[in-house]
Amino acid sequence: MTIAERLGTVNYRNQERRDARPHILVDTNICNTRCPHKATTYVCPANCYTLDEQGHVHFQFEDCIECGTCMYACDQGAVSWHYPDPEQGRGVNWNYG
Ligand code: SF4
Ligand code: SF4
Repeated sequence: MTIAERLGTVNYRNQERRDARPHILVDTNICNTRCPHKATTYVCPANCYTLDEQGHVHFQFEDCIECGTCMYACDQGAVSWHYPDPEQGRGVNWNYG
């Protein structure tokens, strides 16, 4: 199974796609004006950070698997996390723990 196929099997608790709310906010103005390396576009396993043809960074949270990598990879202060409605147990439904 490829990585893309594996990522396609990820499901989320108590969260229909239409109800999804971002748990990661990215200030793409920082990405596109002063980030020298755009590290998150290389390290996110779910490809949530992408570069377009003009070299601009875009972020979409919907396929995030909550690995936390971008939190540590971004040294420019552009990434902030918060979990909306944690009491409802939203987020990735892990198979093991
Ligand atoms: S490392 Fe931070 S500032 Fe740079 S592209 Fe990624 S999120 Fe944006
Ligand atoms: S937490 Fe992991 S999967 Fe989610 S956006 Fe950050 S690097 Fe990508």
